[in-house]
Amino acid sequence: MSNIRFDALKTAWAHQPNNVASVQRASVIFSQNVFTREKMKEYIASNIVGELFDLMDNEKTLSRDIANSVAIGMKKWAMELGATHYTHWFQPLTGGTAEKHDAFFDFDEKGAPMEKFSGSVLYQQEPDASSFPNGGIRNTFEARGYSAWDPSSPAFVIGDRLCIPTIFVAYTGEALDYKTPLLRSITAVGKAATAVANYFDKNVKRVYTYLGTEQEFFLVDEALYNARPDLMMTGRTLMGHYASKSQQLDDHYLGTIPERVLAFMTELEQEALKLGIPVKTRHNEVAPNQFELAPIYEEANLGSDHNQLLMSLMEQVAHHHQFRVLFHEKPFGGVNGSGKHCNWSLGTNTGVNLVAPGKNPYQNLQFVTFLVNVLKAVHRHNGLLKATIASATNAHRLGGHEAPPAIISVFLGAQINEALNQIENADVDKGIIINAKKEMKLGVGNIPEILLDNTDRNRTSPFAFTGNRFEFRAVGSSANCGAAVLALNAAVAEQLNIFREEVDALIAKGEAKERALFTVIKRCLKECRAIRFDGNGYSQEWQQEAKARGLDTETSVPLMIDQYLKKESVQMFGSTGVLNLAELQARCEVKWENYSLKLQIESRVFGDLVINHVLPAAKRYQAMLLEKVAHLKQVFNAEEAKVLNEQDCLLIRRIEGHASAIIAGVDKMTSLRIKANHIENQRERALAFHDTIVPIMEDIRKHVDELEMWVDDQLWTLPKYRELLFVH
Ligand code: ADP
Ligand code: MG
Repeated sequence: MSNIRFDALKTAWAHQPNNVASVQRASVIFSQNVFTREKMKEYIASNIVGELFDLMDNEKTLSRDIANSVAIGMKKWAMELGATHYTHWFQPLTGGTAEKHDAFFDFDEKGAPMEKFSGSVLYQQEPDASSFPNGGIRNTFEARGYSAWDPSSPAFVIGDRLCIPTIFVAYTGEALDYKTPLLRSITAVGKAATAVANYFDKNVKRVYTYLGTEQEFFLVDEALYNARPDLMMTGRTLMGHYASKSQQLDDHYLGTIPERVLAFMTELEQEALKLGIPVKTRHNEVAPNQFELAPIYEEANLGSDHNQLLMSLMEQVAHHHQFRVLFHEKPFGGVNGSGKHCNWSLGTNTGVNLVAPGKNPYQNLQFVTFLVNVLKAVHRHNGLLKATIASATNAHRLGGHEAPPAIISVFLGAQINEALNQIENADVDKGIIINAKKEMKLGVGNIPEILLDNTDRNRTSPFAFTGNRFEFRAVGSSANCGAAVLALNAAVAEQLNIFREEVDALIAKGEAKERALFTVIKRCLKECRAIRFDGNGYSQEWQQEAKARGLDTETSVPLMIDQYLKKESVQMFGSTGVLNLAELQARCEVKWENYSLKLQIESRVFGDLVINHVLPAAKRYQAMLLEKVAHLKQVFNAEEAKVLNEQDCLLIRRIEGHASAIIAGVDKMTSLRIKANHIENQRERALAFHDTIVPIMEDIRKHVDELEMWVDDQLWTLPKYRELLFVH
């Protein structure tokens, strides 16, 4: 009888590193397959290209005439690269990206075959995408969904198709994707930040949001992956006895990248560079077979698009190397999970990073202004920010066996904390001294130029200030980072607007600008003290303390999602124009539904695996033992046989114990699932899955993992952790 596990292992061991084809210099191939501004100048009529740049730079809308001229140039360029098809590339609420390919091929008026691509199809399309989650928007309003060109993210060619980044909206304008509200949030925070930056420099005309993502992931050999139906269908292992050696030696972290993995990374980087993704850093992560890839930060819209693109590219390239990429936040129990750290900052058109300390007190007042506003925004909306990263998959990572914890707090480091404490306690009259030369003293110890060495790190913080940016670490590795970034942008935009109103009110009463700023900053600092936490986020005490501080400590994902509909959230998203009430309700519906579906699938797959693989292996082993016990009696007398069989009888009973617990558990799980499936209300259904299915799955798993340990290795049919995590 063949054993699929051993067949898979044989195949996996035979896999060799690919020869790395000639590697081209990054600077040469960068953006080779992107319709960059240089290419636009080359392929689009010169009178049109100026207008196009203007609308790209100034968020203006596109006219049909321009679209037509752009389409002609774009088609010519794409066809030279071998493209035969085009597609609108959008980001539905499923979390991945979507494309529907159409050929350039068409007939002209006389019936002759030709390649055609017009402005109208570049501009807008109506993909038949009715199956994407929409949270009821398309049922209530209109069935149609449109994708429309986002000229701020350039088109690119992958393989035989021209991809056009688009937003995806309902006929009535409601967003059905992540990109639309992300773009709105970038506009909102840009405007609000520009107004505040103007207190310090009138030349600031625009503020950009920057995003740098660090993508963590696991690689698993394709043959082993295919022999694990749970990995294939849910993206994670639903069972598996922990390997004796996992990450306790920390020997994988930043270790030498295995040769086969390096070949994968090299090809991936080359392809990413051609698509204009500025990949920079790669390394082994903490867990075995876990890695990280980080591009250089970009404008947030582009950075977010590039992360999505990188993820699909990774899946594609992995195939060439007989690997599968796991983006699940917790594919294996007992070892670290994967995140997608979102590094976020605001920068002006004059080249100033608004969240980095400056060179003089005046610049530092600006830095402190923005720092405090971010703190205030994160404090007010800490529960909501957690909701943006909450999902069935990230739940295993957050507040699970390894952090970040399911509590949002901000790490600032000792130096910044000290400076903020001094400001908070300073006397406004003595604190601000401005001499005749308009030089200003902050009345506090100078803020160090930058907390240059980033040694002051805290890995347990979900939201950390790291010297010149904030690092939102709680974001999950499989998430569309737009969801988190758009909420952060909107929250900061709202807070900056409030801040400006307060400062302006003081100025209107005759206060000097610096004094007004200082007064409001001091008050803000007092109000958002609770969000600052530099201690160990993993500790039990922190859970208690966070609760006492009034921070959101909810651990149930379905309940976290409620935060989107809280009065403060609706007000914040509404006032900044990022998401209206209908859109928020729809997003919640989608999140709850997604939660239930993920658990429904997991629970079904788990039940099947247990019944088809685990129990038969256990029973077979039990039968082998029983046979031996019976035979011994034929050879030895009863007394002797009893002694000799003692261990085996114990093992037979032990296996029986676990097997019966599993059978009872699976029966119970199935009936609970049927009950949950019948609940109409999405929120209630998600709650039922959370409250009843999650605990019983955990319980069954314990017995399954015990069996894996006791049953003869030769009979076990599913690749084990020690194989999945260490073969490469
Ligand atoms: P670390 O692991 O030390 O956090 P990495 O080099 O892995 O650092 O990743 C840091 C990420 O932060 C990169 O994507 C980098 O481009 C990005 N980053 C650096 N400076 C900024 C900034 N001012 N704004 C946004 N992202 C930034
Ligand atoms: Mg980092």
